[in-house]
Amino acid sequence: MSRAHDLLAFADGVKGFMPTREGRALYNNARAMGPGGTWLEVGAWCGKSAVYLGAAALERGAVVYSLDHHHGSEENQRGWEHFDDDLVDAHDGRLNTLPTWQRTIADARLEEVVIGLIGPSVVVAAHFAQPLDLVFIDGGHAHDVAWADFHAWAPKVVAGGLLAIHDVFPDPAKGGRPPYEIYLAALASDDFTEVAHEGSLRVLRRTTSRPQRG
Ligand code: SAH
Ligand code: MG
Repeated sequence: MSRAHDLLAFADGVKGFMPTREGRALYNNARAMGPGGTWLEVGAWCGKSAVYLGAAALERGAVVYSLDHHHGSEENQRGWEHFDDDLVDAHDGRLNTLPTWQRTIADARLEEVVIGLIGPSVVVAAHFAQPLDLVFIDGGHAHDVAWADFHAWAPKVVAGGLLAIHDVFPDPAKGGRPPYEIYLAALASDDFTEVAHEGSLRVLRRTTSRPQRG
């Protein structure tokens, strides 16, 4: 079996919030990129989407930054829908997905390809000048958080680069509004055109030159 085949099978089994079909769609769109790019995901959790992206990056000679503060989103906290007791750090009682993320990337043998960035998304973005060939937004779903991610990272996508957004649900009965709203905003900006759609994953391409530097 090929390395890519093994990595995808591994990713399918990693704990996380990326349905198999969507993870594989993310991989397929990413591996169609040009060689040697710099990619970034917002929302790493335990490394599931990072392995799908990492599998593609390995083939393309790209690097993936996998950004998270590793304390979970609002919807991951105790009492909420996506709480996972196994991820609580006894030291301070907070969620801490970093040890699991590190183990995932090590087990996948992607430590040279998937690089962790640990901290709040907007703080990192404010000090991150590197233009990006692919940005995957899969962070917090609260209104202010999702919009902040969009404003922070979408401008860094180069012309021809991809902006992928997860958890886009046009039907309000299926999921929260903010990821759908930022997806609409990206399309309305006329900077981006939709190129792929699988489940709640939308992949857009920047068809205009970057409006600003990061
Ligand atoms: N892509 C993951 C799922 C991400 S879940 C997978 O494949 O399973 C969303 C993640 O966003 C959580 O891990 C949470 O800690 C992170 N997050 C939420 N708000 C954030 C912020 N402001 N800065 C950095 N990370 C954030
Ligand atoms: Mg998601």
